[in-house]
Order: sequence, then structure tokens, then C-alpha cells
Amino acid sequence: MIQDLIVRLLQVSVCAVLLLPALTARAQVPDAWWSSTVGHTETLLPPWTAMHVKNDTAGSNKTLVVGVWGRAYSFTNSPFPVQIVTAGRQILAAPIELAAVGSTGPLKWNVRNAFRVVSQTAAKVILEGVFENPEFRLVTVLTAEFDGVLRFDLTVKPLQAGTLRSLQLKIPLDSAVATLRTWWPIPYGDLRNSGSCPAMGEALPFKPYYWLGNEDLGLAWFGESDQGWEPGDAGAALELTHRPGQTVLQLHLRDRAMPVDPAAAASGFVYAFGIQATPIKPFPADWHSWRIDQGAAYGLDRTTRSDGISFLQAAKDAGVRTLVFHNDWTDIENYPVPSNPRGLDSLVSLLHRNGIKILLYFGYEFSTLASEFKDRADHLLVRPRAGGFERLPEQRCYLVCYRSAYANMLAAGIATLIKEHDIDGVYLDTTLDPWGCTNTDHGCGYRSASGEIRPTYPIWEVRDFLRRLYALCAGTRGGMVNIHASSCAIAPCLSWATSYWDGEQLVAEVEKTGKSHLAELYPLDAFRAENIGRNLGVPAEFLSYAEPKPFTTSDALAMGLLHDVPVRPSGFGSFLAQVSPLWRIWQDFGIDEAVLYPYWKACPAVHTSSEEIKVSIHQNPKNGLLLAAVNIGKTPRDVTLDIDLTWFGLAARTLEVTDPYQQTQQPVHEGRTTFALQPMGFKLLWFRPK
Ligand SMILES: [Zn+2]
Repeated sequence: MIQDLIVRLLQVSVCAVLLLPALTARAQVPDAWWSSTVGHTETLLPPWTAMHVKNDTAGSNKTLVVGVWGRAYSFTNSPFPVQIVTAGRQILAAPIELAAVGSTGPLKWNVRNAFRVVSQTAAKVILEGVFENPEFRLVTVLTAEFDGVLRFDLTVKPLQAGTLRSLQLKIPLDSAVATLRTWWPIPYGDLRNSGSCPAMGEALPFKPYYWLGNEDLGLAWFGESDQGWEPGDAGAALELTHRPGQTVLQLHLRDRAMPVDPAAAASGFVYAFGIQATPIKPFPADWHSWRIDQGAAYGLDRTTRSDGISFLQAAKDAGVRTLVFHNDWTDIENYPVPSNPRGLDSLVSLLHRNGIKILLYFGYEFSTLASEFKDRADHLLVRPRAGGFERLPEQRCYLVCYRSAYANMLAAGIATLIKEHDIDGVYLDTTLDPWGCTNTDHGCGYRSASGEIRPTYPIWEVRDFLRRLYALCAGTRGGMVNIHASSCAIAPCLSWATSYWDGEQLVAEVEKTGKSHLAELYPLDAFRAENIGRNLGVPAEFLSYAEPKPFTTSDALAMGLLHDVPVRPSGFGSFLAQVSPLWRIWQDFGIDEAVLYPYWKACPAVHTSSEEIKVSIHQNPKNGLLLAAVNIGKTPRDVTLDIDLTWFGLAARTLEVTDPYQQTQQPVHEGRTTFALQPMGFKLLWFRPK
């Protein structure tokens, strides 16, 4: 998605593309790569801890607890969790329930065979339980994995002839923790999928992914298709409803009454779905200092800016620590063969000597320039065929499905690039999107009862592919899997990201709506639902296109500072020059050792003269406070800010107050200070103990 931008930027800066050698022959990867299993692992990967299963018996209640890093799922005489704890908090208002209505009315699932462990390792636990009522039997196979994904494979079988009137999965979250939600998919550039939980609830056609939570935690539900679903209203297959104290996600598996007969050959209902509580994993201690720039190119040391400074020197001067080499490191889009292997070797070596990591671009497409395209495209591409991105050397690139053998080929190729060229990881352009696909050649799609071919969204396979890349790049090697996600912050796939980069969808929103005020374009609640990373457990960055539109770099920095989300620069010019001072400030301040008091938690020690001035504060135990104030309104403001230094334990200290970004002193009298802010303007203040 973003390759248009990057190619444009590089062409504007210096024509890095011209440094590429001419394409002499189409590369072809070894045949064995197409069936490779490289990267597959059943072992625990860092930073997660070993799983555990515990049985507690109190009276007639037998509780089984499945524990993973940071989370515990409890089952008490039930096929689904009765409680989930994440980030130290219970999040269910009531047990998750498969509500069934049969011939005799609502049915309760009683234990026939309590969950038993089928297999157990530190990384995966498989359990099986059987539950029943007079009319139906429910067999549940539960596969729990170390990143907290629980997969449920359900078979509902009739025990007697009768009627199944309805079957609904209900997930009731405590309303206090269910203030935000995000779902997928949505047409590109439509931002309705992320934000506050609608006060009146919402009804949606089938969506393969729905996450509900707040700024600290949440719970994702996901399923790869609506096969076997018969909602009464196709437009309300998923429903969000509010009850006193509960925010309920309701999945309408079946609303239409259907006669059932155990003697019939196809007498059962089969469903598979997953849940995952978030955050998924601990934030790395040093994520503020990864300093990723989207600007690597062949010959970086020989390519100069207009002022004569080489790109390499500019990167070093700015403090860049990670460079992404965008799609033109290879002539063939999303294909693991460098167009200039010796150039890549010398680039990697050069960057490593200068303490800079390098990530190579991979994406979501299969190129007509690949030798295998003619013979393999029908089998590998998403169906119906989609995409069609064009680039140089002349080629067209179509959406590939990672349920296909393309995943094997790419994993094998990336493993080879790591081994032969010592790259530090991968940058993945929307690779996590499990595109809807009806290509039955590789197992996608299904036929509905009416014979229509319907899409599947291969979440499980994309998840598996990304886990392979994580194992290869980051698992034990300390490298990176950085994912560009646009409106698709899907937890079970982001498990395998070391960080993600979101926000490109705003460009299409601008084109559609004409909005240009960033806080209007990307409402703060939408940003918090999708782009802060904390509630998912994966560090996030904010994507901003270069100046001047759809919004300025300064606007993006304001948004990022307010949410403690870095903005990633591209290239080595003015964009980097605006971002890099923040990297230095964060380092000098010691932001990784600081506690965040974000605006959304309304710190009682900070008051501003307007609701439109939002303030987020970091407190470092030694270095004081780093405060970011942003005017999210559309008019300029003279701001009065009052800060209770006693509350922060700083009243007795002599403080030097500066704006470290503007490098100016800031007068403060008894905790009060004033300044002016333009719309989307920001003020950074450092209250530093002397
Ligand atoms: Zn497919």
C-alpha cells in the first residue's frame, strides 16, 4: 500500500532507483521453497512464559484455569470461560455463553465429560470436553497457545428429533473495560471500524474480527468465515448491545428454526472460532529508541542530499537505529531475491558497522515478473483476483493469499536472506490482512447451502505464516518483524509483530471527505482503539505522509506525543529533521524508565483552560516531568496550564522548565504557565530537577 509513497519520496530525494543494475534475467527460487516448512516451531518463543493448566475444586465446582503470560482463562463446569483476567483485571461481566434454544425452550449445557488434557507443552495445550442437555450434545476441542489465543472447535449434535430454534455466542464484557472497539474488514479509507463503543450498540454483517476493550486491555473474537451461520438478519450477524454493567458481543450463529434429527446423515453443526485477551505480551523496555526510518537504498553512503551530506551520514547524525529498505531492494515485488546481492551485502555491512539495523520490505502481492507467475498465479492469488499495483521494472502485482504455498516460498526466502545477507528482520506491508478469498485451489472459500461460493478470511494461516517469520527474525535472534497495518490491527496476527505502523488509511479518508484537521480526521477515540499499541501489547508507530497534505508532520507529531506513539520518518530530509529531536529528548529524559499519565486518564494534578487542550505527562523518577500539550481544536488558543507539583512529589525541588523541542526557557509561577497553541499545535515542557 505504501510503496507508492516511498518510491515517490526516494525519487524526489535522489533517484535511488537509478542505482539499481538493469534486470538481466528473471530470478527463480528453488522448487523446494514452495513446500518448505522453515520457521515452523512448536516451542515457546520469547518474551512469553510457559503455559500452565491448573485444576481447582471447590464443592461441586471444578474450575480449570488456563494460564499464559499476563492472562488467565477460567472454566467452571462450562465449555467457555466463566472469567478472564488480563492486565490484572477480571474483564467478563458474566460467563461467555453458547445460548441454545431447542424444541423445549432455552437449554443449559451440563457437563458430561469435564475438560481433560489431550496434550500439553509449555507452548500449547489441547483440551477436550463434552457438554449436553436433553436435546443436544456439544463436543468442544480447545486449543490454547502461549500467546493467549484460544481456539474452539465445536460440534453440536442433536440427541433427539426436534428443532434448533437459535444458537448464539454471547461474550459479555464488564462495561467499565469495554469503552473502545475495532473490527475488520472495512473498505479502505473508511474509519468507522475503530473508536468508542457506539452508545446505542451496533449491528454488522459477518466480520471475521471484533475487538472490545479500553486503552489498557481487551478481548478479541475471530473466525475465518460465516460457514454454518444462519443469522435472522444478515446485516446483524454480529451485534454489540448494552445491558446494565455489561457490553455484550453477540454472534448470531443461527436465528432461523431448523428441524434436527440424529438419524440424518449430516446431523451436526460445526463451528470454529478464537478468542484472545490483550495485551498479548509485555512492551519491550527500549521500544522508544528503535528509531525506525523508511529510507534505506542501495549505495546509501554514495547518495547525497542537496546539501552534499550523504544519506548514511544524515541517518547517523539524526540518530537513526533502524532502516527499512522499501520494495525496490528487489526488482520483483514481494519476492525474496535481491536485485543487487553484492550491493545488499555491502549495505548491510555498512549499516551494521554504524550501529543501524536493516529490515527488508515484503508485502501482499505476487508479481507478473516472477518466473513462476504464469504457472502458479491461479493457485496462489486471492480470488477474485484483486490489486494490480504497477511498478518498475514493468510488472503488475496482485493480492496473494498466505493460505497458499506462497507463504512457504517467502518463509524459505526470508530464512535464506537472513543466513546469506545478515538482515535484521522484515517490514511487512499489510501482510497481516487475511484478505477475503474464495480460491478453493488452496483451501479458501466455501459453498453456502444455496450453492454460492463465499469467502473465507484465512486468519489462522496468516497467523501461522507470521509466527514462522517471527521465529526466524525475532524469536531467538533479536531481530524485528515490523508490520504496516491500515485499519487492520488484528491481535492474533499482531502477536508475531515486534511493532506495527498504522494510519495510512487517513489518506483515502481525506480524499473522500475533504477533512484536513487531524483530530477530526482521526478522532482521538479511534486512535486509542487502533493505534496506541498498549491495549494490544505491541508497540505502535503513527504513519504520516510527507508534507504538506493530508496533514503536516507537526500535526502528526502532536498526535503521536499525546498518545506516546512515535511518528516514523521517511528519507533523510526535513521529515527526519523534525522527528529526530524527539528521539534525543526521549533519550536524555529517560522515557523508557518513566510512568505515563495519559490525557485519557484525566490526571488530577493537571488543569488546562480549555477542554480542547489535551495533556499527557511522563514522569521519570530522576529527571522530572516531560509534558506534551496539544490543541485538538480548530481555533488558536491562549493556554493556561496549572500543574500540581506536590502531587508529583516535586514541590520541594528546584525545577528548570524548558521547551526542549523549541529549545527555549518556559516561565512557570507556582505551577502555572501560559503559552499559545495553533490548531493541532503542540507544546513540549520538561520540568527538570536541578
Ligand atoms: Zn485464499
